Amino acid sequence: MLRLTEIKLPLNHDESAINAAIIAKLNIKPEQLLSVHVFKRGFDARKKSDIQLIYTLDIETDNEAALLSKFAKDPHVKPAPDTSYKFVATAPANLSERPIVIGLGPCGLFAGLLLAQMGFKPIILERGKEVRERTKDTFGFWRGKELNTESNVQYGEGGAGTFSDGKLYSQVKDPKHYGRKVMSEFVAAGAPDEIMYVSKPHIGTFKLVAMVEKMRANIIELGGEIRFSSRVDDLHITDGQLTGLTLSSGEQLHSRHIVLAVGHSARDTFQMLYDKGVYVEAKPFSIGFRIEHEQSMIDECRFGPNAGNPILGAADYKLVHHCTNGRSVYSFCMCPGGTVVAAASESGRVVTNGMSQYSRHERNANSAIVVGIDPERDYPGHPLAGIALQRQLEEQAFKLGGENYHAPAQLIGDFLTGKASSELGDVKPSYTPGITLTDLAQALPDFAVAALREAIPAFDKQIKGFAKADGLLTGVETRTSSPISIKRGADYQSINTKGLYPAGEGAGYAGGILSAGIDGIKVAEAVALAMLSEVGA
Ligand code: FAD
Repeated sequence: MLRLTEIKLPLNHDESAINAAIIAKLNIKPEQLLSVHVFKRGFDARKKSDIQLIYTLDIETDNEAALLSKFAKDPHVKPAPDTSYKFVATAPANLSERPIVIGLGPCGLFAGLLLAQMGFKPIILERGKEVRERTKDTFGFWRGKELNTESNVQYGEGGAGTFSDGKLYSQVKDPKHYGRKVMSEFVAAGAPDEIMYVSKPHIGTFKLVAMVEKMRANIIELGGEIRFSSRVDDLHITDGQLTGLTLSSGEQLHSRHIVLAVGHSARDTFQMLYDKGVYVEAKPFSIGFRIEHEQSMIDECRFGPNAGNPILGAADYKLVHHCTNGRSVYSFCMCPGGTVVAAASESGRVVTNGMSQYSRHERNANSAIVVGIDPERDYPGHPLAGIALQRQLEEQAFKLGGENYHAPAQLIGDFLTGKASSELGDVKPSYTPGITLTDLAQALPDFAVAALREAIPAFDKQIKGFAKADGLLTGVETRTSSPISIKRGADYQSINTKGLYPAGEGAGYAGGILSAGIDGIKVAEAVALAMLSEVGA
């Protein structure tokens, strides 16, 4: 199999153009081309009137060795690498204990699935509810019902990304192609096939819900056990070795191999880890607002006359600005054609995030516009000080919103000129249960407000209309990543608590669904190998 990269074709090319391009590139006869598989498809939209699709193609021909030698100096003709996943272990029959996975977000889901596939029959503990029940609680809160602090956007089966845009790409290095394993499991669970080849795949909220259910069934079929409403409240540590845990019900479970995949919002669990002496340290994260514009404006700006083309879908953007006060502002978790969501998990606190459906057909585009902060400058002195800052900002947002979980919001024009908003413009807010127009300068520290006021007009130079007066800001964004890092060594175990495998976003080893899934696979492999070495297998 050969891999051809950088095959460029016009946006609206017909089906035969791919084969024709291969034949022309390799200078072979049509009958010599035996099969073609699209490995990746991206696009180059720098020239809006002439958008190009860029393919990576895996092909079979009748003369691969000869072609490889002929194109030896061409970096775009190479043997196709083997990206299939290979299990590192199989559980022996005499395994005396079962590994435990705490948390059923993407990291715990893949750690649990892989352990189950290798025969280790994991026990998975999730503080929230199964995904259908959780959906009722979460959507209920968005419609004005009470916040359930154990079943919401952050907690429950599927983890934090379940009600999301379902973007499935990441910047992490992945030399072992674990990302393909994540994607192929998602496809097996019902995700559209295209996630295997489009350059920026996404699946949206409702597809994710059904997929998570199927993956749960798979784990159980393989001998795994999943327990919902099972919050881990304590760890048993003797002489630096983890031996088990206590659930909120008081039940105790024993295992010397426990994956900790609790996400970035498990603040009570972070406190417990700190109290138990597990090594944690503060890490940088970001704070800011959600920004909303009409999606049509973003499409027009990115794709010009090709806006609305179904291959391109709703346009996204990625923006960065380095400010004169030394801060950096960037867009984060952009959700084309989506909605801003209430992402609180604690009473009396307001925090925003974004989601969309697979179609990305909602009227507005939204994205977090956030300022990077770090422990040295902004929350020094204590490993958990970042959590205290998050809580303070979320409480302030709750107050500014009217103490009823409405989010404080302001028109972009008013934010830039320092005037409280009193009336909406063309951009209608998508956040439910509702917004309260106010002065968002009160919601963040002064340096962050100054940085955002400088960055938004700078972004307008890249996306015309970005600083449009009636665009909307909603606050606050505080959970862009974990405020702590739970350090682990090369064996994937905590640097001071053997048997504890900190993993995923909460521990600082992932940022997003795909990277959390990849980290889950890595940790499952480490657990399996450690357990095997203990029984001398
Ligand atoms: P989580 O998904 O947070 O899962 C942790 C799980 O642990 C939770 O289910 C929690 O209930 C459970 N837990 C916590 N404490 C305990 C305890 N003590 N005992 C038992 N269980 C516990 N990322 C993307 O890549 N693309 C997107 O489009 C995207 N959109 C998002 C939209 C929203 C609204 C949100 C909130 C996040 C979004 N993200 C997105 C981020 C993504 O969801 C996270 O990066 C990812 O879920 C992290 O995975 P994780 O498994 O490490 O942690």
